[in-house]
Amino acid sequence: MTTFPTLFVSHGPPTLALDAVPCREFLRGLGDETGRPQAILCVSAHWQTARPCVGAAAEPETIHDFHGFPEPLYRLRYPAPGAPELARRVAGLLDDAAIGCDVDRGRGLDHGAWSPLMLMYPGADVPVAQLSIQAGGDGVHHLALGRALGPLRDDGVLVVASGNATHNLPERGGRDDPARPWARAFDDWLAEAVAAGRAAELVDYLDAAPEAARNHPSPDHYVPLLVALGAAGEGARGRRLHASFLYATLSMAAFAFA
Ligand code: ZN
Repeated sequence: MTTFPTLFVSHGPPTLALDAVPCREFLRGLGDETGRPQAILCVSAHWQTARPCVGAAAEPETIHDFHGFPEPLYRLRYPAPGAPELARRVAGLLDDAAIGCDVDRGRGLDHGAWSPLMLMYPGADVPVAQLSIQAGGDGVHHLALGRALGPLRDDGVLVVASGNATHNLPERGGRDDPARPWARAFDDWLAEAVAAGRAAELVDYLDAAPEAARNHPSPDHYVPLLVALGAAGEGARGRRLHASFLYATLSMAAFAFA
């Protein structure tokens, strides 16, 4: 069975699914480049719970968890089957690691999950389960969460963590404006730290990275990267698959960890 790298993708704004931007073209090729997994576990910035929770719906609904966007976005559906088996396995792994995990049989897929997956696997024929992140959890927690999920790779499961490499919305510019220097500084640091596998620094990003708090006013779009890093195992390094910016403050960088 194929052992897949773990992925971190930047999902950008909800309009990514419709917008002709370089990151969209990249994601459209990423599924073919990666290959077809048995199932996907997606860890999205947009599902935050106090304790880890995994979705186990047989037919997860497409959640349009955004407001004020163009009407066609609300008509998009991603009808991939759910992965209740995988959800049970995830809950078991997290229990074994003494992290714990709840199971939600009704939860669907939010746009952090369906927007990139719709581009990567447009046939919607790979079963998907989604796992939450913890708003109150720090870098250490999310790396450990990933570590506990490592055995999934032996089962042909693809772990897709979805956030944004930089994510300052208040200071964003026009869609095609050049990156702000302070956003580029963080993005460059991130690419270097990932390539060198500097896990301790990546966990400690608020102190280790330039302009970390400005690029991530809240941790939710950063910590999925730590889950991908952790799930790739001790000593994992990352390869940058894509680099571009949207709105001057959103790095759309993507990484594969192995
Ligand atoms: Zn987002």
